[in-house]
Amino acid sequence: MVEGNHRNTEAVINLRMIENNVKAERKRMDKQQKLFAVVKANAYGHGIIPVAHAAKKAGANGFCVAIVDEALVLRQAGITDTILILGVTPADQAGVLAEKKISVAVGEVQYLHDALDYLKTTKGKLRVHLALDTGMGRIGFRSKEELKKAVTFIISQKECFIFEGIFTHFATADSADDSYYKKQLTNFKELMSIVKNKPPFVHVANSAAALWHRECGGNAVRFGIAMYGLNPSGSELKLPKEFTAALSLKSEIVAIKEISAGDSVGYGKTYTATKPEWIATVPIGYADGWPRRMQGFKVLIDGYYCEIVGRVCMDQIMVKVPEAFKLGTTVTLIGEDHGKSITAQDVADYAQTIHYEVLCGISQRVQRKYI
Ligand SMILES: *Cc1c(COP(=O)(O)O)cnc(C)c1O
Repeated sequence: MVEGNHRNTEAVINLRMIENNVKAERKRMDKQQKLFAVVKANAYGHGIIPVAHAAKKAGANGFCVAIVDEALVLRQAGITDTILILGVTPADQAGVLAEKKISVAVGEVQYLHDALDYLKTTKGKLRVHLALDTGMGRIGFRSKEELKKAVTFIISQKECFIFEGIFTHFATADSADDSYYKKQLTNFKELMSIVKNKPPFVHVANSAAALWHRECGGNAVRFGIAMYGLNPSGSELKLPKEFTAALSLKSEIVAIKEISAGDSVGYGKTYTATKPEWIATVPIGYADGWPRRMQGFKVLIDGYYCEIVGRVCMDQIMVKVPEAFKLGTTVTLIGEDHGKSITAQDVADYAQTIHYEVLCGISQRVQRKYI
């Protein structure tokens, strides 16, 4: 792991924007609804602990993560609120999770039986959120029979389990076509009909459903990408204007030279100058999560869009610039500069992926700076 901060390439995270985005969503939600801030994958690359504290300060009532380690990191950081692990947790972790009051998603009856062995010998009960697969095809109960067995088992083992929640996840809540979303909601209601005593948390909405399908209901919202200020739908649906992106990716020019017509740049000499031009080197590469396929895309320097020429290297890129910029001039890869901007969505479009992946891909060795 990288020690300290001796690097001029950094992801700058504006925690005020995280707070504003949480507050904006709180305003849109029903008063009695809870907001769970989704901080899995190191808070979508933004840094799990600073983001969790900012979200909490702005009114988040709990947190969602994907794996046990992320939940433990939050507990270690002094977060005492509900933490739900959205992914499948190994049953042999049940004891630790019960002790630490970390909640788990459960989509199989067998899991409860397996976990029971580890719970009989520990203090504390395991907090269970039953996952319902209403059309995502990922984790969760699909039949009323299995769901009934799970509910019955939890209730019969009151010494070991707390029935804390029940939830589902939409596959297409970010789409303009809402037919499949509606089908999932119907399936959810149908499965819920056998749950006589509702647990404290019933939650169905991710960011997309919270923004565009408020009628989906539930008393908690799992708020992820929109907390970071990005549009869950990419460009398909409109993100309300109160949400603002929190992350910028910045570096600086560390070398600059004038090359002549006929000179090439980078591995495989995929770029050859046809006239004299200035080439700047910027210390970011695919090992930082700047994908190799970004060759030909642009960065912002002093208000100019400058093309990435030659192949993206592991640690560096070369950029064609209009003039002999000074060493140390700021390079914006994501964010704003002199009134112009490059968004994570722009990067994703060029890389033929989604901005979620761009953000999560920013690697550990890129320092996070908080403002
Ligand atoms: C990741 C995840 C979320 C958050 O999704 P966003 O689109 O980022 O809001 C919510 N629920 C589940 C089950 C998830 O896996």
